[in-house]
Amino acid sequence: MTANFSDVHRAFLQSCVLHSVLTTDRALKILILLQARLQPDDPVPTESRLQELLVDINSRLDRYQQKIAQFDYGPKPKRYLVFANLSDTPLDRFQTAYQEAELSLFRVILHALAKDDEHRLDQIQCLNLTSKIEAGRYVSKSRAETLISEWQTQGYLTILDEDIGFGPRSMVEFDRYLMNHFPDHLSSCRLCKQALFYGVKCDQCSEGLHKACLKTYLSRVKKCPCCNKNWTATLE
Ligand SMILES: [Zn+2]
Ligand SMILES: [Zn+2]
Repeated sequence: MTANFSDVHRAFLQSCVLHSVLTTDRALKILILLQARLQPDDPVPTESRLQELLVDINSRLDRYQQKIAQFDYGPKPKRYLVFANLSDTPLDRFQTAYQEAELSLFRVILHALAKDDEHRLDQIQCLNLTSKIEAGRYVSKSRAETLISEWQTQGYLTILDEDIGFGPRSMVEFDRYLMNHFPDHLSSCRLCKQALFYGVKCDQCSEGLHKACLKTYLSRVKKCPCCNKNWTATLE
């Protein structure tokens, strides 16, 4: 445990729990506001102060199998903080919040997204999954609509153009679960070895990589890390 766990730490952690998913830009703004209110004599926090704070907080959360994870989320070029539970059976924690049938719908959506080639489903496909939930259970389409938007707010699902895709929180909390259950449908990034949900593909060898990992790599070597051919495609 870190000796220095201040009111700012505590309030910032609460804010992360409340939001579930925040961009790092927004998280820094929150930190600046909290510090101005709670410790006005300290210097205005910067990105590096935010990083220090996260280290302190995560060392506390460790024993609860929770953490604030940071990662670059594939489809949108932004860095996110995700408050995540890392217990081995991530679906269990939904049990307190949702009924069995609703839990089943969540599981069916997660599995359908994993199995889709591009890991996205249109809204109608998603709602039609209500017919795929376990026998004897029922969720109406209008309830499903409410749930899907709730799961978006919680960061489990996201809108990709018009479609529904994995949200940043699913990628953090369910990556192991999905990799174990759908090894044929999900790959990992050659650079960081983490699950790859939405990546960029090499024109030459078709190997997929996280955009953020690839950007860092290409800033040193302008070659594909998999086939070693020159990387020509532009990354926005
Ligand atoms: Zn990667
Ligand atoms: Zn390649």
